[in-house]
Amino acid sequence: MKLENLQPSGSFKSRGVGNLVRNCVQRRRTSATASHGPKIHFISSSGGNAGLAATTAARQLDQDVTVVVPKTTGRAMRDKLVAAGARVLVHGATVSDADEYVKHMVADDPKSVYVPPFDHEDIWQGNSTIIDELHAQLDGHPPTAIICSVGGGGLFNGIMQGLERHGWTSHVQVLAVETSGADSLAQSLQAGELITLPCITSIARSLGVTRVSERTLAYADARPDLVHSLVLSDAAAAMACVRFADQEKIMVEAACGAAVAACDQAVLRAAVHGFGTDSTIVVVVCGGKSKSCPMPYFSWLRVNEQAALAIDLDLH
Ligand SMILES: *Cc1c(COP(=O)(O)O)cnc(C)c1O
Repeated sequence: MKLENLQPSGSFKSRGVGNLVRNCVQRRRTSATASHGPKIHFISSSGGNAGLAATTAARQLDQDVTVVVPKTTGRAMRDKLVAAGARVLVHGATVSDADEYVKHMVADDPKSVYVPPFDHEDIWQGNSTIIDELHAQLDGHPPTAIICSVGGGGLFNGIMQGLERHGWTSHVQVLAVETSGADSLAQSLQAGELITLPCITSIARSLGVTRVSERTLAYADARPDLVHSLVLSDAAAAMACVRFADQEKIMVEAACGAAVAACDQAVLRAAVHGFGTDSTIVVVVCGGKSKSCPMPYFSWLRVNEQAALAIDLDLH
């Protein structure tokens, strides 16, 4: 298990978004003319883990940060962002409304820098450090498979880049897990082109990106023998959160529960070529600070696991 829930912002996004923020600050510091320039103003439109990662990194480097969230972002998340040091503005009904507004803010403010949630080279590079660490931790022996969940594909792209860097590309299978209703990669692979989902219906909000990055589809398309796209139900993801809390005492979002749910004998036997008792499986416990599955269901699920999976609960 790569325990990304222990990252400073509570998810792997500290690696990628953190790297983007740090690179901006370093570029500013090394350019002689601007060594005493004003602070950079980072602006993010993510009311989720990307906003939290941007805030954590920017504040640690003593820079300013604003997060614009839509009205739908809950009070709890807004409080977390403020506590981490962000100025929080509420704008619009959806994330894309908030994002539009952010782009106007950035255009009007030369000191500002837009922080995207997943579609940026610096983000992929930061996320790829997961593989640098794995390479050291496994003494250079490639694992059989790595399980990661896919929203926009920033985590997945980083993993693929890291595998390339270490010459592991042909040795390691990657399970790219989505939940049904947030399965933009699976549907794009099926269609053979990038498609945009009309809406997100999964409870795994952090996977709720209607269109994956171009690079994500390119990576998955290029190696169908090594990249396996997997779509699990919300109930399976929620159930995995409950079991994970029970067994490992780790609380994660449903977005992460999806990856944990794939770490199952039956799933692995079906999805991973040559899976056996001597296989090494790495699950990226991507973490997340948003709500897990809706709390009233949490205790219900513990008692009624079989029923939950059988009827594929509508948890919305
Ligand atoms: C952002 C996020 C994801 C999805 O990552 P992408 O880089 O968008 O694919 C998965 N899990 C958690 C907890 C996240 O915050």
